[in-house]
Amino acid sequence: MRVASTRGAASAPISEAIAQGLATDGGLYMPPQLAPSARAWGTNLRERALALLMPYFADDPLADHLPAIIDEAFNFDAPLRWLDERTALLELFHGPTAAFKDFGARFLAATLSRLTTGSTATVLVATSGDTGAAVASAFHGRPDFRVVILYPEGRVSPRQAHQLGAFGGNVHAFRVAGTFDDCQRMVKTALADRELVARHHLTSANSISLGRLLPQMAYYAHAAMECAHAGHAPPSVIVPTGNLGNAFACLLARERGLPIGKVMLATNANRALVALAATGRYEPAATVATLANAMDVGAPSNAERLLARFPQVRHAIDADWVDDEAIRHAIRRTWDRHHVAICPHTACGVEVLERLRARGDRGTWIVAATAHPAKFDTVVEPIIGTTVAVPEPLAELLARPAHATPLPPEPAALARALA
Ligand SMILES: *Cc1c(COP(=O)(O)O)cnc(C)c1O
Repeated sequence: MRVASTRGAASAPISEAIAQGLATDGGLYMPPQLAPSARAWGTNLRERALALLMPYFADDPLADHLPAIIDEAFNFDAPLRWLDERTALLELFHGPTAAFKDFGARFLAATLSRLTTGSTATVLVATSGDTGAAVASAFHGRPDFRVVILYPEGRVSPRQAHQLGAFGGNVHAFRVAGTFDDCQRMVKTALADRELVARHHLTSANSISLGRLLPQMAYYAHAAMECAHAGHAPPSVIVPTGNLGNAFACLLARERGLPIGKVMLATNANRALVALAATGRYEPAATVATLANAMDVGAPSNAERLLARFPQVRHAIDADWVDDEAIRHAIRRTWDRHHVAICPHTACGVEVLERLRARGDRGTWIVAATAHPAKFDTVVEPIIGTTVAVPEPLAELLARPAHATPLPPEPAALARALA
């Protein structure tokens, strides 16, 4: 299928759009709107991923590869964990770097490695924590790629930092003496420099890529169908949101006919999307640092996709926001009530649901649990008063030595580092 840009001046076959990342007119590629279907969508996560994604790739050179790509990307599960009869966490953190971004990053890597041109590509990523590790893990050891990660020194959790530096091989981590916005500016400057792009075959892997967005539909389809099979009412979904990639995928799954009720965004103190959902007006703001650092996004790039697809934003989504104090409360309450540890991002979603319940909502709700709490041990453990067991893949990474090269927050320094 051809996909068109949000700005209307570019279109490309889907595999080219994935390879390009940003559309050539500066917009974001939009998945075509397909007729909704009430089919069963298969019986497990992989079958559902294939059923959902195949139509987009039907006439594409990648179509024959899609089953193998999905096997590589979806090699871990996304189970529902019921807290009571009407409330479940959708655990998206059972992948190699313990956050939901593993699904999208692995799909993108599996896709790009089947589209390579023979020369080594450099995947450039600015990260506020989780993206860098997911992308590094997904491309680690793939011979046609090297990965260059920029993260703001001292502004990611200690375990996130260790993780980023622990891959080695074709993955190079740089700790930038600056903010996430500095890192992002350096990456954008590099990607806009034609000469540099050509010399190093630069490409990006940020969340505007369709190759990360599309596969995220699969676990919402999976959760909705698991609910249906268990005799539950169609669930509404709360998505802890930063750049809006994950929640947008949930909207797409609903658009395809999956039985999903409301889609509600839970943000931290970065509230541009809450205002957008309430007023229909999008006003990006400066980023505020919070305990849910992977959601510290003042200007969510997928807002452009949301407005292009759902101009009546208020009819498509609801949204609420949560401050750091309420994040701490939600972590504590969930531990006291259910003996379940949750990460600060998931806590935003849980807190938003708590407010709905307090107003009398008795519907079936799923909260996306976007990262494993052990990744944020320095926040979570003091609140719940005990240690959180570290999942095996994360423990393996943390046991390796880590190395990151210091880098001043200047585009010229990145250009030198690339050489
Ligand atoms: C990236 C991230 C988010 C935000 O996801 P978006 O797709 O950017 O909205 C939420 N939680 C965690 C743990 C993340 O890593």
